[in-house]
Amino acid sequence: MSQSLSVVIPVLNEELMIRPLVAALTPVLEGLALDWTVLFVDDGSTDGTLAEIRKLAAENPRLRAISFSRNFGKEQAIAAGLRHAKGDGVLVMDADLQHPPASIPEFVALWRAGAKVVMGQRMDWEADSFLRRRASDAFHAVYGVLTGGRLPRGIVDFILLDRVAVGAMNQLNERARFTKGLFAWIGFTTASVRFDAPERAHGTSKFNFLKLLRFGLDGIAAFSTLPLRVWSYIGSVISLIAMAYALYVFLRALIFGTDVPGFPSIIVSIMFFAGVQLLSLGVIGEYVGRVFEEVKRRPLYIVAEEIGPAQKDG
Ligand code: UDP
Ligand code: MG
Repeated sequence: MSQSLSVVIPVLNEELMIRPLVAALTPVLEGLALDWTVLFVDDGSTDGTLAEIRKLAAENPRLRAISFSRNFGKEQAIAAGLRHAKGDGVLVMDADLQHPPASIPEFVALWRAGAKVVMGQRMDWEADSFLRRRASDAFHAVYGVLTGGRLPRGIVDFILLDRVAVGAMNQLNERARFTKGLFAWIGFTTASVRFDAPERAHGTSKFNFLKLLRFGLDGIAAFSTLPLRVWSYIGSVISLIAMAYALYVFLRALIFGTDVPGFPSIIVSIMFFAGVQLLSLGVIGEYVGRVFEEVKRRPLYIVAEEIGPAQKDG
């Protein structure tokens, strides 16, 4: 039992999931011949999640938890889990059984074979709504173009990191965290495990459309500056066209004399360029806002409470 594995699980209002989750995980982890712990990160739940965890942890020393003072978001919860986990390997997974415990032995086998990062790759998306799937496809297409396509489709936050990879993740202090992108960014020998995600076992998704949109923008802004730089190219092209047009108007006036210039074309071009300028300003605003968030250097999250044997292997 030399190796140890910490399972990090971010939870937000999952009171119905804690018990079935622990029941499903225990036999799988027991079968792995390693020293295991489960570390719940309670992301400011307002239901009975923490009470459930407390009850189970009182009877089972393998269960630990840290609890945030409020909801900070899943990305911050994963960051906290990676910092508090003490295992030689750390497995991150969702609480809703959409990340099947039955796949865990495959993760561990690849890790034991030498992979420092083992990524779960989701193959089946039927459990998500049609709109969410289309939005996700669109995001991946845009993200691929803007960042040079470093994020394979289907990579989710179901991942096993070796201690060295956890150390690398823990050096990343950025606030706007696009965890999937960071997992890919740290590098190391990587293997992947394919899995099918079933429907959520209880409750509903904690991500609505707006939250996902915000998250997608964070992801793009964190890994690409192309939206910022592209305006100088667009500006140059428009200036060239404007100069050519000015020359044309000038020559036309010399040859045919002046006529009354077209009023509609002026309105259209004013509106078009005002739009382009507002858009580019908005993009700059998105980045400046994020720079502001970063320079404040607030902590990523606030821990209100730790549950379980904190000193022992996590
Ligand atoms: N979660 C969290 N904080 C949040 C939102 C979600 O810790 O602000 C947790 C949630 O409890 C679950 C996991 O992140 O364990 C994935 O959430 P969910 O299943 O709602 O997302 P989806 O599967 O729809 O992407
Ligand atoms: Mg889910």
